[in-house]
Order: sequence, then C-alpha cells, then structure tokens
Amino acid sequence: MRVDVVSIFPEYLTPLDLSLIGRARARGVLRLAVHDLRTWTHDVHRTVDDTPYGGGPGMVMRPEPWGEALDALAPADAPTPRLLVPSPAGARFTQAMAHELAAEEHLLFACGRYEGIDQRVLDHAATRMPVTEVSLGDYVLFGGEVAVLVILEAVTRLLPGVLGNAGSLDEESHAHGLLEAPVYTKPPSWRGHEVPEILRSGDHGRIARWRRDEALRRTARRRPDMLAALGAELDKKDRAAL
Ligand code: SAM
Repeated sequence: MRVDVVSIFPEYLTPLDLSLIGRARARGVLRLAVHDLRTWTHDVHRTVDDTPYGGGPGMVMRPEPWGEALDALAPADAPTPRLLVPSPAGARFTQAMAHELAAEEHLLFACGRYEGIDQRVLDHAATRMPVTEVSLGDYVLFGGEVAVLVILEAVTRLLPGVLGNAGSLDEESHAHGLLEAPVYTKPPSWRGHEVPEILRSGDHGRIARWRRDEALRRTARRRPDMLAALGAELDKKDRAAL
C-alpha cells in the first residue's frame, strides 16, 4: 500500500519509523512518505493560513498550497488515491473503516491545523478523487497528525504479512462485534489473583466457550450498544451466558 501524508509538522509523524509500522515500511508492505505542506508555498514566510472570511477567531488553511500538494501527489495521469481528511466533523473511524482502508492501493492524508482547511480544497478534490473526512471521536485535537498515526496503525496491522500471527486479528475486540475476553499469562497466581482454572485445563472446546461467554458478558456490561447490534446472531448458548 502506498501512503502519502501532508502536514505542516512532518516531524510529528516520526513514530511511523518505529515498531511494526517501521518494519512494514522496511519490508515494503507500506510505502509511506511524509510531506511538508510548506514545500508548496511561494512567499518568503511560507504562509499556509489566513483569517477566516465572515470573521471569527483563529486562522484557516489557505487553498493554494493544498491545491498544489494534491496536484503533485495525485497527478491526473496516475491511479487515483483516496483522500482522507481528519476532522472532528468527519465520519467516526471504526474497525470496519480500517478494513475498508486496508483494501485501498493509495491513501493520501491531508492534516489540518488551526480552524481547518479551506472547504474549497475538499470540494475541488472531490471532483477527481474519493474524499473522506474522518473523525477519531467527539473531541477536538490541535491537528490531524495524531489522527493519522491512529488510523495508520489500525490499517497497517490489517495488511497481509504485517502481524506474525494473523489469527489474532480474528479473535480481538471488534472483529465480530464483541469485545475480547480478558487475557492472562504466567505466573498462574499473582498477588492473590488466580488465572481462571479453565484456561489451564487444556480443554480447547471449553476454553473457546469460556472466552465467548466472557466476551459476551464484558460486551453486555461495557458496550450494550454493540451487543444489541448483534441481535439475531446470538444463539441459545450465547443468550444463556448473559
Ligand atoms: N474548527 C474545527 C471544527 O470545529 O470542526 C476544528 C479544527 S481542529 C482545532 C484542527 C485540526 O485538527 C482539524 O482540521 C483536524 O485535522 C484535526 N482534528 C481535530 N479534532 C479531530 C478529531 N476528533 N478527529 C480527527 N481530526 C481532528
């Protein structure tokens, strides 16, 4: 997958060199480039913002550098990327969206700052590529860079070959509309707290049932909205666990 990120703080994206994302880049699974928006400014102050039309507090990112950046990174004669614009007014980022993005060939992220990017940048981009405004949640950050780190981490771990054991993708929270059951490792007893006996029994059938029941109960307690969404998918044994 190819990924381009445009930001006025490219150094904010340096964690993308680390850990499993860094390894995915080193192996060529992820071809990622971070670009400084100011590359596409032409004045001595390398200006990217101006006061908002209509008045009000804060500054708005000017359209010209963004227009040039998108022209350079998504030229008309190349395959069209999907433009992702982090915004608290966007669609909520979910595991389902992470799967959707993991299937794309080329993602292009535009990181806003200040009061955001002049709307015409998005409107113009939408005439030639798919544009998605995406929100991490119902709160406001300083800029889109942290959102890009979160989204790329969720997407990269879904790319084939990135996780050592792809089976873990199938068992974790949000994989099948449930939260994952609690997990344990050695020692069997720690500060008076015991690992549930069943997990040490070696009985894989009972362990799988226990995990499913715990996942159901945990989801019911913490995220009743998720459980309600499963509705008819719950069978008799599932309902008995609740
Ligand atoms: N004036 C904007 C509004 O009220 O919708 C908020 C601008 S915010 C201070 C600056 C930038 O941070 C946004 O353009 C966006 O890139 C990013 N941002 C802030 N909150 C976000 C969130 N919840 N999810 C994704 N990006 C966010």
